[in-house]
Amino acid sequence: MADGQEKDGLSSEAREADRRLAALEAGRRLFARECRFVAGTTTAEALPPASLPEVAFAGRSNVGKSSLINALTGQRALARVSHTPGRTQQINFFDLGGRLMLVDLPGYGFAAVGRRQSGAWTRLIALYLRGRVRLRRLCLLVDARHGLKDSDCSTMTELDRAALSYQVVLTKADKVGAEALAGLTRKIAAELARHGAAHPEIIATSAHTGQGIEALRAALAELAEAVPPVLSTPTPLR
Ligand code: GDP
Repeated sequence: MADGQEKDGLSSEAREADRRLAALEAGRRLFARECRFVAGTTTAEALPPASLPEVAFAGRSNVGKSSLINALTGQRALARVSHTPGRTQQINFFDLGGRLMLVDLPGYGFAAVGRRQSGAWTRLIALYLRGRVRLRRLCLLVDARHGLKDSDCSTMTELDRAALSYQVVLTKADKVGAEALAGLTRKIAAELARHGAAHPEIIATSAHTGQGIEALRAALAELAEAVPPVLSTPTPLR
């Protein structure tokens, strides 16, 4: 048998290509489902029950989080929800076709926002993370023009401490050249290797050109599928 060729005659490369195609198709099917706003909250008491597997999105203010969620779901109406005045500091929950809960966490690290508010962000997020037994991964959005900032690094440290799997997703990739993007990806990958809870794959996206959107859908669909049904009620928040 030739190198890389397995019993059924498929090379490992062909097998990997098949797997990727299947993952892309699963992502396409999942995100073709309707996505609807379920709840927005600023307090732990008002968090909806963890009835679905969840994926959360976090990042600095203006990183392009709303645009990315809209691009993923293909539904512009969701952005309107996120941008409703007074809702921007909320945790917003979106039910994607009864299969996956997309959780939009408030943006952090905005220069004009003082320490007090960043403390409030940390507290709210800590409360959220503590109670979410079905949170599969947090997508940590990073602007491809700016790379990791101190506030991103503190968030990563918090997530390591909470042992919560997170993945860096670059936004606004259309704003930087291919070489700069490759350099930034290498640099962030080296940093991620030092963080225990970090998923190594970095996905570069652009809500404007659609770059990386299919790949991210595929990654999220895998998380939705890899989940057993709920057998018991989630641990109540303290
Ligand atoms: P949020 O505050 O993190 O929700 O960020 P928004 O989604 O509101 O985006 C902030 C700004 O970045 C807006 O002016 C968007 O048009 C812009 N933006 C978002 N995504 C992209 C992108 O992929 N490419 C470019 N060039 N601009 C983007």
